[in-house]
Amino acid sequence: MSSNIAPPFIASNLALDFINTQFGVGEERQECLDDDSSVIAWLQQAGVLTDLCETPPAGITKLARELRDNMRDLLISAQQGCAADPAVVNHVLEKGCPVEKIEWEPTEAVFQKKIDKRNMDSESLLQPVAASLVQLLTEEDLQLVKQCEASDCVLLFHDQTKSHRRRWCSMATCGNRMKAAAHRARKKTG
Ligand SMILES: [Zn+2]
Repeated sequence: MSSNIAPPFIASNLALDFINTQFGVGEERQECLDDDSSVIAWLQQAGVLTDLCETPPAGITKLARELRDNMRDLLISAQQGCAADPAVVNHVLEKGCPVEKIEWEPTEAVFQKKIDKRNMDSESLLQPVAASLVQLLTEEDLQLVKQCEASDCVLLFHDQTKSHRRRWCSMATCGNRMKAAAHRARKKTG
C-alpha cells in the first residue's frame, strides 16, 4: 500500500466515490483513506465538509474504513437481492444525524430551513456519505450501479447516461486501454 494517492472521483455518486477510495487488485491495491487527515481531505474534496478541521476527530480513519466495508457489503447484497447487516451505516446515521433548524431570513422576510452538523465527531463528518448510500439503495435502480469493465479495475460508478451504456470508470484511462487491447487482439486473430 502506498500513501498520498489522488482518490478517483469518477462515480457520479458520493457513496460510490467513497467505496472507490480503495481500489486496484492484488499488489496494485491502493488505499486513499490512509490516515485521519486523508479522510478529512477526502470529505473536503467531495464537497461534504466545508468547515476547517485542523484536528480530525480521533478514530475517524477506523470508522471510515468500517463504514466503507459495510457500504460495499450492503450494495453487493442488495444487487443480489440478499439481506446484510447495516450496523455501521445505521450507527453513523443515528449518531451523526444532523440538526434541523429554522432561521429568520430578514432580507427576504421568510423562515429558512438550515441543516447543521451535530458536532465535529467522526459520525457527524461521515453522515453525508452514509446518507448518500441510503439514497442510492432506496431510490435508485441498482442495475445502473456498475463496475468498470476493464479486467483489472474494480471502480464502481452510477451510470447516468441516457443510453445506460457507460462501461468504463474513465474513457481516458480504462476505456482507451481496453479498446487498444481489443484492437490488438482483433489484428492477431484476423
Ligand atoms: Zn476502470
